[in-house]
Amino acid sequence: MSQLRVLIPAEKIQERIQELASEIDRDYPEGPVYMVGILKGAFIFLSDLVRAMKAPARLEFVGISSYGRGKTSSGEVRLTKDLDTSVEGQHVIVVEDIVDSGITLSYLLQVFQSRKPKSLRIATLLDKPERRQRPVHVDYVGFKIPDEFVVGYGLDFAEDYRNLPDICVLSE
Ligand code: 5GP
Repeated sequence: MSQLRVLIPAEKIQERIQELASEIDRDYPEGPVYMVGILKGAFIFLSDLVRAMKAPARLEFVGISSYGRGKTSSGEVRLTKDLDTSVEGQHVIVVEDIVDSGITLSYLLQVFQSRKPKSLRIATLLDKPERRQRPVHVDYVGFKIPDEFVVGYGLDFAEDYRNLPDICVLSE
């Protein structure tokens, strides 16, 4: 039977998001910043982050093929939904739920670089540095976590658990 253990409670997530939003405000006082959420996992983080920001933000989403129903990556990334608008000459922050192997982000960074933004940065709620296979520089990190499979606050296992308010470790 699956078991859930709270790793990061909702209040802690909100506190950290306020800090990240202040950092972004400091870095982009004029805006606008295109905040590009990676569907579906980043949608809750993105919505809390942009509401905590004072810098003018514009919202975009991209879809990528992900883990499917398992806990391990196929190592293959595919864009399933592209941006709705051009970001050429604009400030862009890619907003991820979690960086694990780094394969997804290194692919997305290539995609976004080719769109010629003025600047390109990455914000992730969670980072599992131990699991990295591709080096990616992450500019805004919410929490570094150990190598455990987590769900909640937007993150799923086979589409379940996304609406949990806390980030929890899922174990069998
Ligand atoms: P990467 O390409 O960095 O290996 O994988 C990033 C993606 O894998 C994340 O956007 C997320 O969808 C998924 N992922 C990685 N670790 C976890 C985890 O612990 N829990 C969940 N739910 N998804 C994860």
